[in-house]
Amino acid sequence: MTQFAVANGELLIGGIPLTRLAARVGRTPFYAYDRQLLTQRVAELRAVLPPQVKLHYAMKANPMPALVCHMAKLVDGIDVASAGELQGALDAGANPQEVSFAGPGKTDAELRQAVAAGILINVESFREVPILAAASKELGLPARVAVRVNPDFELKSSGMKMGGGPKQFGVDAEQVPELLAEIGKAGLAFEGFHLFAGSQNLKAESIVEAQQKSFALALKLAEYAPTPVKFLNLGGGFGIPYFPGEQRLDLTPIGENLAAIVAEAALKMPQAEIVIELGRYFVGEAGVYVCRIIDKKISRGQVYLVADGGLHHHLSASGNFGQVIRKNYPAAIGNRMDATETETASVVGPLCTPLDLMADRMNLPHAKPGDLVVIYQSGAYGASASPQGFLGHPSVYELIV
Ligand SMILES: *Cc1c(COP(=O)(O)O)cnc(C)c1O
Repeated sequence: MTQFAVANGELLIGGIPLTRLAARVGRTPFYAYDRQLLTQRVAELRAVLPPQVKLHYAMKANPMPALVCHMAKLVDGIDVASAGELQGALDAGANPQEVSFAGPGKTDAELRQAVAAGILINVESFREVPILAAASKELGLPARVAVRVNPDFELKSSGMKMGGGPKQFGVDAEQVPELLAEIGKAGLAFEGFHLFAGSQNLKAESIVEAQQKSFALALKLAEYAPTPVKFLNLGGGFGIPYFPGEQRLDLTPIGENLAAIVAEAALKMPQAEIVIELGRYFVGEAGVYVCRIIDKKISRGQVYLVADGGLHHHLSASGNFGQVIRKNYPAAIGNRMDATETETASVVGPLCTPLDLMADRMNLPHAKPGDLVVIYQSGAYGASASPQGFLGHPSVYELIV
């Protein structure tokens, strides 16, 4: 993977040779996130998108506190999906004015915390309206809301669809006029709309189409709004390449399309700030998962590298977090980057389940116990998206360099 340099046969993470970094951490397995790559990614995106478009970080992709602190300084806002993430975003220094909260099952307590924090709440159910009104009255604070719309279209070719058809997310577009009327009657501080069609999309034309349709839908729904739209979150869904043959997302058409949307919004929705929210795209490629080979076994001719890490730390790489057909994440032996001779080997973890498979029959350098396995593209949906309690192994360490 070209985002990390190699020197003297070792992968460099944050400029530090991997074995030295592992010595510094003092244990394996660990996740390491490269600050410079995070900073670069935000800068690259800003260079292609119109300056009026605000970038929000969806912190469910990676909630590690030091990483969220780093991201909070780079982006324009943080999107949270629980009261726990809300606390994390505020601890990281996010401005509450620029924090928004989406999620299908917000409890009464979470809604009250959100009003007290002064953040924007993406309303996803009629139920939330009277609860927010009561919290607003009791606390003497406005309840800032946007309506999360379940659109009447899907994000084509997305890895995970989160809008269109029947969904637990948001309120169906056709019910939104009624919800807006209730929001008006309840005296909530209406600010705008949130549309999120799906995740992990590598096709620019599908993202462009979803953003166009989202904008058109928001314009239509704005006619029913109690006050002018000040905030329009058009979602994200930008994917990163994980598997052989996957092409990097082409940002140019997305930037051009957003420029057209910004221009149209200036006329038809003049007060609206246009936002996109990204998780994986910001952080996924900046992170690696590193584990150490404990044993090398040969079973009926097949080589197994048994590592001290696996599915319990990195469910995504094992193929059990939303993949339909299991494919290998890109991987390497991080202390044998110059090796020329390779063998076919599988990297498995220590768990007593055949699902604990990090690399299935990959071409890797001849590796030995003590060597360091690196799984790339691991900065998103890693530690926090894995069942760390499963089988009672130690939890994974995380650092940012
Ligand atoms: C999960 C999620 C995101 C982040 O998705 P990525 O694919 O990581 O960019 C953004 N917005 C909402 C509402 C989400 O649920």
